[in-house]
Amino acid sequence: MKVFACVACGQVDFPRRLLCPSCGRDEFAEVAASTGSVEEVTILHHRAGKTGGDIAYIATVLTHAGPRVIARLERLLAPGIVVSLRLESDGAIVGFSD
Ligand SMILES: [Zn+2]
Repeated sequence: MKVFACVACGQVDFPRRLLCPSCGRDEFAEVAASTGSVEEVTILHHRAGKTGGDIAYIATVLTHAGPRVIARLERLLAPGIVVSLRLESDGAIVGFSD
């Protein structure tokens, strides 16, 4: 997946902002954020719109590029574990560990 770095001051954000929250400029460069560290995991039961009582693992992940993102984990992982990140076609971020 990609995050967005302000070309003027280097502030990195995700998702992309209209204006840089740090300096107010509006020009960004895409930066790869393919890995991150799991910070906190929330276990969700009975996802809306799904049947069968699925469990979802939602994590705050600090990407190595800078910003924190919310990612769905493919399985339960402990805080501190480094995950790979990919952006799904529906815009969801998935974290996985091989
Ligand atoms: Zn900036």
